[in-house]
Amino acid sequence: QEDSMLQSDKLSILGQLAAGIVHEIRNPLTSLKGFIQLMKSDKTYNSEYLRIIETEMEQIDAITKELMIFAKPSDPKFQSCTLQSIFHSCMRLLEGQFFQKRIKIVTDMEDELIRIVCDEQRLRQVFLNLMKNALEAMDHPGKISITIKRKNNEGMFAITDEGSGIPKEMIGKLGQPFLTTKRNGNGLGLMMCYKIVEEHNGRIEVESKEGKGTTFRVFLPLKKVDMK
Ligand code: ADP
Ligand code: MG
Repeated sequence: QEDSMLQSDKLSILGQLAAGIVHEIRNPLTSLKGFIQLMKSDKTYNSEYLRIIETEMEQIDAITKELMIFAKPSDPKFQSCTLQSIFHSCMRLLEGQFFQKRIKIVTDMEDELIRIVCDEQRLRQVFLNLMKNALEAMDHPGKISITIKRKNNEGMFAITDEGSGIPKEMIGKLGQPFLTTKRNGNGLGLMMCYKIVEEHNGRIEVESKEGKGTTFRVFLPLKKVDMK
């Protein structure tokens, strides 16, 4: 029953649901924020408690923002860009975190630029999420390998970590909303990856060995003029 539904249908239902929930959460949140501001100017309230309330509310805000990505009817802005440039911009954002965890990034890159037609902003989200997951899966120093290659008429972005790996029974469930094994996870990252890659007519492959590590491969069609 469940599997007779297309992944994209599931996502669209979830999108509608998300839109409703986000709306219902945002309104009271805005009102609460107003009252917090008022209380902050009143010395009778414990400022430390107010600070905690504010931080927690920001957390709610951040999660609803993430949900909005599904709630918005998708109108991706397609333009020509390269896999290499998307990767480099993600790398700049995460460099500090890799360094802190003493994780080395090893790259194997096609010399020629791999051009695709894509919504750069969204694909950056995909690469970022995969890189963050790889980073979070590793609780010891080590390396993460990134491969960017042309395979026939597709460009491939692959990322291999030396982390905990994903249990076999979980592999088939990847991309389901709220599936997380992390204390601070939300289980929306991979779901977003699948949705975005799907709207680019691409696909994602996963290979993982528990205790050894994981590889995620993203395949995206090349820009038409570069196809053979
Ligand atoms: P989150 O990162 O918030 O938990 P994701 O959707 O990004 O949500 O990932 C869902 C789950 O898939 C993670 O909680 C984790 O259990 C598993 N996972 C994803 N990527 C990896 C990886 N590279 N190594 C090990 N487990 C992973
Ligand atoms: Mg994640």
